[in-house]
Amino acid sequence: MATLIDGSAVAARIRQNLRARVDALAAQNRPVRLDAILVSSADETAAHVYAQNQARTCKSLGIDYALHELPAVASQREIVQLIRRLNTDPNVHALMVHMPLPPGVDIYTVRAAIDPAKDVEGVSPANIGAIVYEHTSLAPCTALAVMRLIDETPLAGDAIKGKRVVIVGASDIVGKPIAAMLMGREATVMSCNKFTDDLPALAREAEIVVAAAGVAHLVTADWVKPGAVVVDVGIHRVPVTGDPTGVKLRTVGDVDADSVSTVAGWLSPVPGGVGPVTVAMLLANVVAAAATAAAAPDE
Ligand code: NAD
Repeated sequence: MATLIDGSAVAARIRQNLRARVDALAAQNRPVRLDAILVSSADETAAHVYAQNQARTCKSLGIDYALHELPAVASQREIVQLIRRLNTDPNVHALMVHMPLPPGVDIYTVRAAIDPAKDVEGVSPANIGAIVYEHTSLAPCTALAVMRLIDETPLAGDAIKGKRVVIVGASDIVGKPIAAMLMGREATVMSCNKFTDDLPALAREAEIVVAAAGVAHLVTADWVKPGAVVVDVGIHRVPVTGDPTGVKLRTVGDVDADSVSTVAGWLSPVPGGVGPVTVAMLLANVVAAAATAAAAPDE
């Protein structure tokens, strides 16, 4: 059976380390704060619950949280104007924009408006591009989390050099940055998407499979080489099998964990794998942005 890569334990260690850094900055009269923009959406309750959870997580580390809400009818211009105002506010050093955005708003334009030095989700074109140069100080949090979890396995550090990695999914913020980071570590990377021919056969050749396609239970045992490392990025809420009411939901990933765990050597579970480490990486970026702002001379 595969060894589970315990993302919750990794996240707890990261948070413990961050707490000390937040306290040290506060002692220098440099409080750490995360500013988040939330545009109301059809799924308003879920977005607010997410923001409340984020506020609670920040508070547990001594990080202040400022939520800037815009109505669902907010235009792209209004969103970008708010970002520009926060970009120039000296009290703001860590800024993020909650997804989803209203229909018709161009996500690239919004991301490109964020000051790269404050872009703690690592989604601005400057920060995405910096990954190719291996400047990963404010890189996308999920990609950082995947790298961190691989480092919990025997393929940590230099052991990954030359190893074959199949990444299932090539989105701009998840699959592509993961591919660039793994190339930086000198792995042999294959970036795959929904058009890739005979993906299970390719995946079976790989020492590492990263599943980030957004398709529940896509990766099954016949995709996995015995002993391989499998990192599951997917998050899906699906009905609990056998629940007669059909209303109970559970969280699953892109990997069919029951079958894959009989073949893989290492597997990151869902929940408790990439998810909590992604949250911890966002907080690490917040603290890094605050520390950089604190180190810069006052204007
Ligand atoms: P996306 O829809 O933007 O991109 C999906 C990618 O997967 C595309 O490149 C597409 O071509 C590819 N794909 C789709 N179906 C495929 C198939 N059958 N075979 C091979 N490739 C296929 O999705 P995303 O935003 O990158 O998210 C992917 C998953 O990761 C989702 O489940 C999402 O919820 C999850 N996610 C998790 C975290 C986290 O912190 N754990 C963060 C972001 C996204």
